[in-house]
Amino acid sequence: MLDLAIIGGGPAGLTAGLYATRGGLKNVVMFEKGMPGGQITQSSEIENYPGIKDVVTGMELMEPWPEQCMRFGLKHEMKEVTRVSKKSEEVFAISLAGGEEVDAKAVIICTGSTPRRANFEGEDEFLGRGVSTCATCDGFFYKNKEVAVLGGGDTALEEAIYLSHICSKVYLIHRRDAFRASPATVERLKKCENIELVLNSKIKKVYGDTMGVQGVLTINKEGDERDLKVPGIFVFVGMNVNNGVLKQSDGSYLCDVSEYGEVIVDLSMKTSVKGLFAAGDIRIKAPKQVVCAAGDGATAAINVISYLGE
Ligand code: FAD
Ligand code: NAP
Repeated sequence: MLDLAIIGGGPAGLTAGLYATRGGLKNVVMFEKGMPGGQITQSSEIENYPGIKDVVTGMELMEPWPEQCMRFGLKHEMKEVTRVSKKSEEVFAISLAGGEEVDAKAVIICTGSTPRRANFEGEDEFLGRGVSTCATCDGFFYKNKEVAVLGGGDTALEEAIYLSHICSKVYLIHRRDAFRASPATVERLKKCENIELVLNSKIKKVYGDTMGVQGVLTINKEGDERDLKVPGIFVFVGMNVNNGVLKQSDGSYLCDVSEYGEVIVDLSMKTSVKGLFAAGDIRIKAPKQVVCAAGDGATAAINVISYLGE
């Protein structure tokens, strides 16, 4: 029986593992279906992780994290978890791809979230080289430059407003002429003089060279094309919360989730189920930053230690 099962090996899961093992828990396994590191390993530049002065790649940032955790006894199983369920009042069952099942006294869910793809030509090719899904992360690279934003929801509009304070101009591309975002946010957007709306338009393709993006070709309902010569395009067409492991055989979730599928936690990262914690991008109102995910992981592990001690 594991003392603690951590599901996911991104910044939240790794930090949870570090704090749990260094805090004295002996039998802790982190189930990560791929290499540890998480989604930040897809990023070519990160410059907002405190203490790291240079701009580094996501891979470079995360490379030392697993070794540091393993030193204190964290075990990594490169296995996909298919479901977490309750076996009894005090025991969780962790089901693994392939049929194996492992028991654990406590669980921290750190499976993150995944930005949805808009599926235009060049989106995957230039991801991390001009195509971005994070304005807080990458906006600064386009200081005083023109950029484009795709989407018409709250995230797209809020991030377009954020970028308008950094960039010289923001083209907001949306496939309709009405926004899904709240009216108050739409009003704020309309007051930004350096945001130009490109409505009823889709992205036909993003083009560039080995250095990155050089422009975005849009097409509107009438079939008119427009070539926006921007070095960056931010895609905000919704998020998929990776909450599949919490889905039970009857379709319900093991713990309370928000209407968007985010796991509801309190400030201790406790969910509605005793012994079940969640940390990082998977949890409600996550700022979706590495430093915040790591902080959540530490908070969750500290509270797991108290829970098991009680
Ligand atoms: P994740 O990093 O998503 O890790 C979740 C892990 O869980 C993954 O490794 C996944 O393989 C694993 N997993 C999922 N399901 C299962 C399962 N069923 N079984 C086993 N394992 C599973 N943040 C910043 O602070 N600064 C930046 O500059 C920045 N740039 C970014 C650039 C890009 C292109 C992207 C995509 C994100 C960026 N972010 C940035 C955001 C940051 O990466 C995330 O906020 C952070 O990684 C969230 O950490 P997490 O541990 O919660 O989840
Ligand atoms: P969202 O509300 O689902 O909006 C996604 C937007 O992307 C929509 O405008 C949609 O267009 C567009 N879109 C989807 N697929 C596309 C594609 N393939 N190509 C082009 N455009 C595409 O997602 P979100 O903005 O990330 O917000 C998610 C939830 O969180 C929402 O309920 C939102 O209200 C909430 N949220 C709230 C706040 C806040 O309260 N401050 C902030 C952020 C997010 P259509 O409109 O035509 O469908």
